[in-house]
Amino acid sequence: MAANILIVEDESSILELIALNLHQAGFNPIRAISAEYADNIVKETIPDLIVLDWMLPGMNGIEFAKRLRANSATKLIPIIMLTAKSDEDNKIEGLNEGADDYLTKPFSPRELVARIKALIRRRSPELVNDPIIVEGLVLDPSSHRVQVNNKSINIGPTEFKLLHFFMKNNNRVYSRNQILDKIWGDKSVIDDRTVDVHIKRLRESLKQSGYDKLIQTVRGAGYRFSNE
Ligand code: CA
Repeated sequence: MAANILIVEDESSILELIALNLHQAGFNPIRAISAEYADNIVKETIPDLIVLDWMLPGMNGIEFAKRLRANSATKLIPIIMLTAKSDEDNKIEGLNEGADDYLTKPFSPRELVARIKALIRRRSPELVNDPIIVEGLVLDPSSHRVQVNNKSINIGPTEFKLLHFFMKNNNRVYSRNQILDKIWGDKSVIDDRTVDVHIKRLRESLKQSGYDKLIQTVRGAGYRFSNE
């Protein structure tokens, strides 16, 4: 599940730049052009993190952060403050008023994404879609790509899900039924032969790079992804 990141920024070009970068990093950006607007959004949905501009028309970033911290429903939302003011006093004021981190404008979107990931990883690690790497086999959940030596491997959507599941659960054995349940969901009516078919396709996709050997058949039990 993608993390919801609320961006509060009155300059539309910066707002869009941030939203684009967050989207590319696998997050779900929610846009607000003022603190008042953001306040209404937060009443409906609690975001997983807020990127908050300091200088806003109407209620400014500091006031909004104070308001969030004063409310038990919103006080734990991580906040990254954006500011054009770079002097140390302002930085300290910002952090004291409840920002968990801050960035001075102009900032690099990459840096912002890295800071967001660091904060979210601390608070809710399951929401960060970091690439999984096993012995040079790279699976990137946000771009839906599998790569070896920077070259993409052709892989179908079901095989991608299967490989993602296996790589997250390295060395664990799963029965066909468990795999059916995890990949197709319990509503599925397909039989467990389907698992074999997709395992075969997955192995074929990985064959050229030699990684098909990591998909192991465990006799009488099911399948395992293992590099041991
Ligand atoms: Ca502003």
